[in-house]
Amino acid sequence: MITTVLGEIDEKDLGVTSSHEHIFIDMRNCVDEPIDPPEFFYDKVTAANRIEVLVDPYAILDNALLDNFDDAKEELMYFKKHGGQTIIDCTPDEIGRDPLAMKKLSEQTGVNIILGCGHYYHKAHFDYVKTASVSQLADEMRKDILVGIGDTDIKAGIIGEIGTSATITDDEKKVLNAAGIVGAETGKAVHVHTDLYTENGFEIIDILTKNGMKPEKICIDHIDVLLRPDYVRALLQKGVYVEFDNFGKEFYVSKTNRFAYDLERIHLLKTLIDEGYGEKILVCNDICLKTMWKKYGGAGYSHILRAVKYMATENGIDEKTYMSLITENVKNFMK
Ligand SMILES: [Zn+2]
Repeated sequence: MITTVLGEIDEKDLGVTSSHEHIFIDMRNCVDEPIDPPEFFYDKVTAANRIEVLVDPYAILDNALLDNFDDAKEELMYFKKHGGQTIIDCTPDEIGRDPLAMKKLSEQTGVNIILGCGHYYHKAHFDYVKTASVSQLADEMRKDILVGIGDTDIKAGIIGEIGTSATITDDEKKVLNAAGIVGAETGKAVHVHTDLYTENGFEIIDILTKNGMKPEKICIDHIDVLLRPDYVRALLQKGVYVEFDNFGKEFYVSKTNRFAYDLERIHLLKTLIDEGYGEKILVCNDICLKTMWKKYGGAGYSHILRAVKYMATENGIDEKTYMSLITENVKNFMK
């Protein structure tokens, strides 16, 4: 059975599922204020200044915040209209997890929403993560999964996204160890946010499996910003899932930190499918920015059912195989 914000559902009722999104998010505490901020840094995101954040997504602080209930509802309705049935919302508390709002959204849209638990990367951590023991952190995740989040009876259905930095910090290791313990114990899957430009997947897998987690319950996220086929293959050979979760993010940022384009992602996706790895790949948008919502000119949660699907099938991935990435694969990861 799968735990959603409205209770348990059968895994066969997940249907078309985006494996990693954020419906509400507040990443503003992770954005460094520039030393000499441009005059638009504290403006609201609009169509007129959208170009600033297409180069660097954090050039306007407001881009890091999604918190409007009515807008979120409309975005979920677009997803549903194009065939989407379930969204895994991987937002940890420190960046805006809101179980009551998610429950209301699920009731009002009919989209299944699955919530995560655990902690994001070091920069976002609440102070208590520093002093908490591994067993206290595990208790917290266990409670979210078995009893309910905060003082609600809304339970988490997945662990994560657990955050890690370019060098995995001691506090992040504690959280990973706790996630491994609770993952092994409850059988829940775990999403791990990896630094976009380093190759920490192996260290993460070691920590989680050392605690008894099976590789097939682990997903290494964000492998599609800097495309490194050999790294991704080596991860897949460990038996874990890897996630192409940046569809819709084609930012330049800088010469050394550019994001791959969606079409380049599709080419790597096809190569890996042709090599036989198709059953261990998840595909989603990891929406975390205002400009990714349709309201602000973005592709929305339905991107994976619209342009990405079109590009995939135009470039040699048959429709059935593509659809299995956002149905069967997520189901197998979660069950
Ligand atoms: Zn995420």
